[in-house]
Amino acid sequence: MDSLPLLADHPYASFLDQVEKPARYAGGEVGSVVKDWASVEARVCLAFPDVYDIGMSHLGFKILYKLLNDDPRTLAERCYTPWVDMEAQLVKRGLPLVSLESARPLRDFDVVGFSLQFELTYSNILTMLHLGGVPLRSADRGEDDPIVIAGGPTATHPEPIAPFLDAIVIGDGEEKATEVALAWARLKREGVPRRERLVAIARLGAVYVPSLYATRLDPDTGFEVVDRPLASGIPFPIERALVDLNKYPFPDESPTGGPEAIFDRMSIEIARGCTEGCRFCQAGMIYRPVRERDPEQIVDTVMRAVQRSGQDEVSLTALSTADVSCISPLIKKVTERLTAERISLGVSSLRAYGLEPDLLDELKRVRATGLTFAPEAGSQRMRDVVNKNVTEEQLLETAERVFSRGWGKMKLYFMIGLPTETDEDVRGIVETGARAAGAGRRAAGKGKPVDVTVSVSTHVPKPHTPFQWAAMDTLGEVGRKQRLLKDTVRPYRAVTLKTHEAHVSVLEGIFARGDRPLADVLERAWRHGARFDSWEDKLDLAVWEEAFTHVGVDREKYLGTLPVTARLPWDHIDVGLEEGFLAKEYRKALQSRLSPPCGKVAGTFVHHTNLDDAKADARRLVCYDCGVACDMTQMREERLTFLDRLGAHRRSLPVLTDAGAAPPAAAAGPSGAPASDGGAERESVGGAERESVAATEPKSGDDREPSRAEGEAPHRARRIAPAPKGRGGFRYRFRFEKAGPMALLGHLDVVRELPRVLRRVGAPMTYTAGFHPKPDMTFSPALSLGVISLDEYVDLRLERDLDPAALDALVAAMSAASPRGLVFSGAVKLGPEDPSLSKLIAGARYALAFARSAIGGDAEALLAARCSAALSAASLPIRREIDRLAKMVDVRQYLVRAEVGGPEVHAALARAGLVGDLVALEVEVDIRGSGAVKSSEVAAVITGEPGEAPGAITPPPHRAVRLQLFGRTSPAGSAAGERFSLFDLERARRVKPAPERTAALPLAADAE
Ligand code: SF4
Repeated sequence: MDSLPLLADHPYASFLDQVEKPARYAGGEVGSVVKDWASVEARVCLAFPDVYDIGMSHLGFKILYKLLNDDPRTLAERCYTPWVDMEAQLVKRGLPLVSLESARPLRDFDVVGFSLQFELTYSNILTMLHLGGVPLRSADRGEDDPIVIAGGPTATHPEPIAPFLDAIVIGDGEEKATEVALAWARLKREGVPRRERLVAIARLGAVYVPSLYATRLDPDTGFEVVDRPLASGIPFPIERALVDLNKYPFPDESPTGGPEAIFDRMSIEIARGCTEGCRFCQAGMIYRPVRERDPEQIVDTVMRAVQRSGQDEVSLTALSTADVSCISPLIKKVTERLTAERISLGVSSLRAYGLEPDLLDELKRVRATGLTFAPEAGSQRMRDVVNKNVTEEQLLETAERVFSRGWGKMKLYFMIGLPTETDEDVRGIVETGARAAGAGRRAAGKGKPVDVTVSVSTHVPKPHTPFQWAAMDTLGEVGRKQRLLKDTVRPYRAVTLKTHEAHVSVLEGIFARGDRPLADVLERAWRHGARFDSWEDKLDLAVWEEAFTHVGVDREKYLGTLPVTARLPWDHIDVGLEEGFLAKEYRKALQSRLSPPCGKVAGTFVHHTNLDDAKADARRLVCYDCGVACDMTQMREERLTFLDRLGAHRRSLPVLTDAGAAPPAAAAGPSGAPASDGGAERESVGGAERESVAATEPKSGDDREPSRAEGEAPHRARRIAPAPKGRGGFRYRFRFEKAGPMALLGHLDVVRELPRVLRRVGAPMTYTAGFHPKPDMTFSPALSLGVISLDEYVDLRLERDLDPAALDALVAAMSAASPRGLVFSGAVKLGPEDPSLSKLIAGARYALAFARSAIGGDAEALLAARCSAALSAASLPIRREIDRLAKMVDVRQYLVRAEVGGPEVHAALARAGLVGDLVALEVEVDIRGSGAVKSSEVAAVITGEPGEAPGAITPPPHRAVRLQLFGRTSPAGSAAGERFSLFDLERARRVKPAPERTAALPLAADAE
């Protein structure tokens, strides 16, 4: 049975605390926008086909959310895939999937817009449509249904999901999102029939409306390909949209303060596109040309974002951050500004060379435990094939630099299953790792630990890349190569090998190069339970096997080598590349020939870091005429302008370049293209090429980051940590309430949020000393999820000395800057003599509220009798289970008082948002250094049926409110002393803690 609703008027209110991480569904974060539906012309639900924790890190989502909400004509709300437990609840209760902001079903919006990041999220799209009340297939939608659109990297090869989508935006979404939403809503208001509306949307350009195109079977491949348009005036092929990024500054605010996202930092996109041309990387092909944001704009955005979010870490991201032209001076500039604010800087995909030495040395002061690099292949020949032109010498040099600077770990990412791969290349992966470990050992010095992790995933050929025609390894072949890796690694103790589940990659490969008939397979698999297929522990292969067999689709045709001349299921999507460019790159790959980076000076792999050098270098920039037609003059000019704006006028220190390696032999040919590909040498430390695989394995136990937002580089790179402060500053005790959505937020999330609230209001905290400095604070004992509190405390240290008036103003400002449900109600300054919370807290008072109907009869009399019985019992045992370990707890040892609650308790319940015909108990319990009891355990032993086994006692549905935390004038456990407020410092100073009380309060698991 359900508990009393925690969120007023929310359709999930009565059962939210029965699901894992309920705050995923509650909304109310700082920066979330709730607009009046009547005030706008078009309402958009941004739908992310994965769980909240992953979707919240997605940069594209943040861009569109801000853009649509800043526009007075539109609003955007968010919805993420409900986790399986929540889906089960919604199905059981017949409730729709609703948005976070206004709790409206998806079917109520004008537009439902999905983000297509990864093929294995497609089944989640069907879950969201179905639960949101929207017919699954475009063909089944009626006049009043929303338009279901999608965009993102896999939108460039959308056929397997096409029948479920009304329209697909190709390319950058910044302009199209608003244009489509407004056009659709206007046409709907005007009463234009749905099909005509779709034709009008298709005519906007850069929008593919699958139902308006005929398909045919290609005799060469057996693929169903898109043949021709069915309406006049609609594009064929469909060209992508491309925006000037500087017209759309990266958002400086987005929702924050909910459950922890996988990338829990303020990520700022500094460039889109990539110069490197890795042949397996789809993002590097479809986001061309590289477009860099104005560095002044980046610095401003970073500073505003930090202030608004309160986050203590900023990450500068791009597909290959190291190859952004002004990255070195930009990092310096951002670091200068952030250091003053004690904010860490994370830079993804940063080279270990090509940077000035002082910057490299800064990287020693990190909190990260290791560094990651992506050589991708284990032999020079193979790296030439994939166009990852790092040499082994550079990699070993990098290992020396890393380990000599004090890091003990290094991680290297590789792939197996690349075209032309031999067993020698596969063994070379482990051997490269072993040589890196050897170089590291020599550099680290005697006795220093050196650990090199070699993480090996399976290559998935992706559309719109030079490898789109290449065969994917069969499962058997992947297994054989993985065994070969395991055999090879055995003698190398300093190398840790990690491999990945190949079934996930094979399914991804089928859907990446798939055609429309796969839509039937997808729907069948989904109807039989396919969910969260990118999560290794959720992928149900049997369901997919059955679906392929039932629909009669031969998987092999999607996995083999494809003829270069064949029509492909994604040929009608034009991402801007010249016909023939990909095929030329494929041929070069098969001949192990490199194509050095484009957009850089011929023969170099590192951009100039100062204006003098950049101006003096008149050499042409490399270009392969790939089709996107970069303006090389403008590119060069823009870089000079950016260096000028950053004040990087002359070289201040010698640059560590890729000089140790032989200079590339490539000389510029026509259009700046190299006449020869030989000799190109550089290092790469990650990059977008991982995108296809990076999103595969959340929670799989694998150490790769589970999913990556668009433009988010995969490797957690170096972070410049704030200077340790030690226990300086000024001590304060704050009181706060935790209700509504905050009662659904885990204790650790609240602990994470508080320093951010303080940064948002400009009251920075001091940090603990040591290698991992943390905000200096102590919280009152943790609450179970769903328990409201009107009386929580935290002791913390702030940098500033505040008088009482300033403290009151700070308290008010903190409430205004907090997520919904977190309210600060007071603060006092503490002196050195004032005992900490952990030594003071002796007990708690709770209200346990029950719906009168759940108790039945004369509820008050019944509960009064149960209270008397409980208090006269010698023991009240209950079985407590934590992480599948059970222990017996005697609740009676902690129970001090239990009685039917009076008017004061009912007033408190109303303040906590609990209304209705309620009957309440007021209970008082001890909190000791050795332990405590949960309010649910107290409710169970008082209201459980007499004679029930301790492990089986379930209380009637109720809601607990912590009314008060207090100290006692005599040691805890005696119950004899008087209670006193934790703000009563006079009495607090006179109390001697019980001998058993140490500095620590009970652990979160058994505290309340
Ligand atoms: S046009 Fe030339 S410089 Fe621009 S992305 Fe294509 S190859 Fe690179």
